[in-house]
Amino acid sequence: MSTWTDLADEAARWVEAGRTADLWWRDDDAADVGPALERLLTIHRDTGAPLALAVVPATATSALAARLAGEPGVDLLQHGYAHVNHAAPDDNKKIELGTERPAMFVLGELGTGRLALERLFGARPLAVLVPPWNRIAPALVPTLPEIGFSGLSTFGVRRRVHPVRGLLEVNTHVDLVDWKGGRGFVGEAAALAALVSTLAGARDSGEPVGVLSHHLAMDGGAWDFLRSIWQKVPKMPGLSVRTAHELFAPGGKDRG
Ligand SMILES: [Zn+2]
Repeated sequence: MSTWTDLADEAARWVEAGRTADLWWRDDDAADVGPALERLLTIHRDTGAPLALAVVPATATSALAARLAGEPGVDLLQHGYAHVNHAAPDDNKKIELGTERPAMFVLGELGTGRLALERLFGARPLAVLVPPWNRIAPALVPTLPEIGFSGLSTFGVRRRVHPVRGLLEVNTHVDLVDWKGGRGFVGEAAALAALVSTLAGARDSGEPVGVLSHHLAMDGGAWDFLRSIWQKVPKMPGLSVRTAHELFAPGGKDRG
């Protein structure tokens, strides 16, 4: 469990080392307009924190496209295809991009999804795949660059910067929703503990540290924390909130 002071202390360690930690913000499951999306965009606008929105291609609406046309600073990522669970009935881990269906079929859906996003948003979506439930069968990953993806974003400390040639992985590490414990906010102390420990690890790895929100699934505590973190972090020397397009840029600082 950690406090805001612990976060400031960790930031100070980055300053002492003459370095700056990269943080970023990903929000998942966007498909339509609504009060939750407005609440999210208000925090983005009020705090100035860069926002990367993972959009579900199969259900994304033209109303969402029209609304986001007015928010040019938001980066768009592809959130699988339809966010449908295809796990075997005896498997309680939900997965869309698994091995239950033929790989050609799953990859074909992802290609269809890319086209759907292009139809709605033009060239704006980044070529970054966010697998629903942060899960993708390892066997599918080597094919992602062949179907046009240059970035992958899941949850947890990445094993490799590039899982395969031509594919950069930039993950999230701090999930605000307690999915197994009633779907409420994980709590400030737990969220800060995850953030501080991931930042400490990143002092060695250089990995960007991602905060993950879900605008359709957050309670008041999670919303309050989201606003607090993006108000406080940009004021902490040693921490820098980056855009997804910077972090996923080809030949960017994560090359290696
Ligand atoms: Zn999702």
